[in-house]
Amino acid sequence: MKIKNYINGELVTPFSDSYIDNFNPSVGEIYGQIPNSNNKDVEEAYQSAKKAFPAWSTTTLANRSKILSNIARLIEQKLDVLAEAEAKDNGKPLSLAKAIDIPRASSNFQFFADAITQFSSEAHESVGLGVMNFTLRQPIGVVGCISPWNLPLYLFTWKIAPAIAAGNCVVAKPSEVTPMTAYLLSEICIEAGLPKGVLNIVHGLGGTTGQAIVAHPNIKAISFTGGTKTGAHIASVAAPMFKKLSLELGGKNPNIIFADCNYDDMLATTVRSSFANQGQICLCGSRIFVEKSIYKKFKKDFILKVSELKVGNPFDANTNIGALVSKEHLQKVTSYIDIAEQEGAKILFGGKKVEVKGSENGYYLQPTIIEVNDNQCKLNQEEIFGPIVTIMPFSSEEEALQLANDVVYGLSATLWTNNLQRTMQFSKLLQTGIVWVNTWLLRDLRTPFGGTKASGVGREGGFEALRFFTEPKNICIKYE
Ligand code: NAD
Repeated sequence: MKIKNYINGELVTPFSDSYIDNFNPSVGEIYGQIPNSNNKDVEEAYQSAKKAFPAWSTTTLANRSKILSNIARLIEQKLDVLAEAEAKDNGKPLSLAKAIDIPRASSNFQFFADAITQFSSEAHESVGLGVMNFTLRQPIGVVGCISPWNLPLYLFTWKIAPAIAAGNCVVAKPSEVTPMTAYLLSEICIEAGLPKGVLNIVHGLGGTTGQAIVAHPNIKAISFTGGTKTGAHIASVAAPMFKKLSLELGGKNPNIIFADCNYDDMLATTVRSSFANQGQICLCGSRIFVEKSIYKKFKKDFILKVSELKVGNPFDANTNIGALVSKEHLQKVTSYIDIAEQEGAKILFGGKKVEVKGSENGYYLQPTIIEVNDNQCKLNQEEIFGPIVTIMPFSSEEEALQLANDVVYGLSATLWTNNLQRTMQFSKLLQTGIVWVNTWLLRDLRTPFGGTKASGVGREGGFEALRFFTEPKNICIKYE
């Protein structure tokens, strides 16, 4: 299957007529081709977005909201097709794509369809001077949205929906590793009546297509989710051009477990927060720190629970853990199992590739638990982004906090305790953008989402996203 770019409301082939192979990771075979777009395709996409901007930015909020709702409804209607495409493209269990990825993509559009009708700005009266200030929030113009492969449609729409709700026109690029549902979204946008050029989707490699978007002189803002190294490169290109930047980057999130927590709830959630989506969620808790008094018990129970997880083909209804996204990524992840051996860490469970019957060439790896004794080891300092977690005991609150913060990343943290004072203290002192207490991945789309330190700059979600995608202008009126 050859997919196409979506430019000026039409599905088009790339100028170069050159294509990239698209793999199905669950069987390790090529099953399609995607456009290998270049500067010319990005320029065409930019021109179409520029042409669409005057009309779209002055379309009433009610109309914009209606079109976004149409897109949300169509995603919901096509749940099965989209979930199957996502599972095939990414390797994630079909059940997960059906329960999380696709419903969330629909919610993203519905949420911003509603949010834009409630978005407002501030007024400041300079009392006694006869002066009124108000803040005019205008769309930026043409903006770029670039997303990764782990939650393909979920994260792609998380950027596009607020950008177009706020009145911008968009040039977007999904990951070349998982382009399929972005392509299906182009078809949905046409069906939903999105005016031509409001959204343009250009497929291709990061270093060429992505780079062309970031370096384009008239694409005024970039919303990027992906690796920290790529984010740093994008910042180095975009910052001297004074572009607005939102960077959602890598993580190495701590999961801190105190003895006073609700144990069963913690155990079940920790299995999920470690291995959901094959551990390929930026918010997965990959460093597990457990209070000494329950460490032995936790270790035994955790290994038992994890050993019950079934690694299998994403389309098998019993599968808990599907395939990793690509051969290269499987190699990267398994290299950390070698590193564990070199660093003298102890593999408590897993660590081996899995041959799935009927899918022998797929990229499968056992969920892996590694016991480490030093937070400074590579396993605890570098983002692995796969089904590998480390565990380590701690003796005091001070030590737990020190271990949690002792890393370059700062995306999220999970805390398990029933002590209110500790909850408040940790919530303030953990150096992350999100702290979950006695839960994980519970999301309210109105909340600010993003990381600190090497996990990024800026916040997505709710009005934060609408603020990012608008430029505030101070209007100062002297009326006396
Ligand atoms: P990546 O950085 O390799 O690629 C992300 C996107 O950037 C892709 O579309 C890619 O084609 C594009 N890209 C690559 N080089 C580029 C360049 N020079 N210019 C412009 N675009 C370029 O990341 P990935 O491997 O796809 O995704 C995994 C990473 O994403 C992990 O580090 C993970 O933690 C992170 N992530 C972060 C969040 C978050 O919200 N903070 C969410 C999901 C994933």
